Amino acid sequence: MRTIDQFNFKDKKALVRVDFNVPIDNNRVTDNSRIMAAKDTIDKVCNDGGSCILVSHLGRPQAAEKKYSMLNILCEVEAVFNRKVILSKDIIGHDSTSKAKNLKSGQILLLENVRFHKEETQGDIRFAEELSKLADCFINDAFGTAHRAHASTTLVAQFFKDKFFGKCLESEVKSIRKVLKNGEKPVLAILGGAKISTKIPILKNIIKIADHIIIGGGMAFTFAKALGGKIGLSIHEDSMLETAKDILDSSIENNVKIHLPIDVVCSLEFSNSSTRKIFDIMNIDKNFQGMDAGPKSLDLFKNVVLNAKTILWNGPLGVFEFSNFSNGTKMLGKFISKSTKNGAFSLVGGGDSVSAVKKLNIESQMSYVSTGGGAMLESLEGKNLPGISALL
Ligand code: AMP
Repeated sequence: MRTIDQFNFKDKKALVRVDFNVPIDNNRVTDNSRIMAAKDTIDKVCNDGGSCILVSHLGRPQAAEKKYSMLNILCEVEAVFNRKVILSKDIIGHDSTSKAKNLKSGQILLLENVRFHKEETQGDIRFAEELSKLADCFINDAFGTAHRAHASTTLVAQFFKDKFFGKCLESEVKSIRKVLKNGEKPVLAILGGAKISTKIPILKNIIKIADHIIIGGGMAFTFAKALGGKIGLSIHEDSMLETAKDILDSSIENNVKIHLPIDVVCSLEFSNSSTRKIFDIMNIDKNFQGMDAGPKSLDLFKNVVLNAKTILWNGPLGVFEFSNFSNGTKMLGKFISKSTKNGAFSLVGGGDSVSAVKKLNIESQMSYVSTGGGAMLESLEGKNLPGISALL
């Protein structure tokens, strides 16, 4: 892995693929974490005496649409990097070429939304080559798009001799390796969320690595039903019953202990205010549905989490968006914080668990919170990401 610390960027123009695909509401960036994540890389290049040409996408534009222009995030980028940022009106046109050419040491140029060109997502090699002509070297710091073989995330790398992992990408890759390749034992994976079908590839990969797996959230009910339980109206997938049994069998072969909830907080309806009652997961009333982990389950999970030395968390333990069913996810967050404080390595990755950690305000108590959704899920499935392979 060639990292930016191994290079002096003095007088070099670096094309930096960043992931500035941030949420915007009423012309305001509502979460700037992805911009913050690129700060160390940009500071290193500028402090060396180099300059940065930043390229990113924003949203899913069909063409050059004003609401997806980088102009919408320019102020936030300038505030985070604490310096003036030059914006180019195009990506590989006259404006970007002349602004890149005139870029001075320590300056930052932000290119317009790269997805304004359909060639980006089509992975067009000529477009990638034109983009590469703007700079002397390439840094990929966009983990969130590393699973896409797009022009600016993957193809462009082949036109550079000097290409590097940015600080954010380096941390993501190291954190994943710390769990999947050299995790200190016992290794625990916590998988929650709505559906087992979307987590099967992760489960199949993780079962070869983990010592313990906690299965929570909606996923747990398919397992409970496969084991002969009565799960009432709880979310489940009948088409996955055999798969669930296979996973349980495979856990025995791989010497992995799977922990399912013992009891669950159930509700008469899928709403925050409906009648609540706790049932054994194997014996839920026919009119109720499971919405959150119950107290006995949490006692069991606490024990497993506090004994783990490496923890991966993907997916909430219940319908955490409803305050009356967020306790399980909240408590799990606390257990992981405590375990991390005691020396365990904890990685939170993939969609809703990251939102949960942010909502609970415990981001800083985890060892690492991933910036990537799809890219993290594919990594946990054991896939090689094209954006990373292109740098090797
Ligand atoms: P995923 O994207 O697969 O990680 O799923 C996250 C979603 O799972 C969240 O929106 C949760 O509300 C939902 N979820 C978790 N537990 C349950 C449950 N017991 N019943 C229904 N949905 C659930």
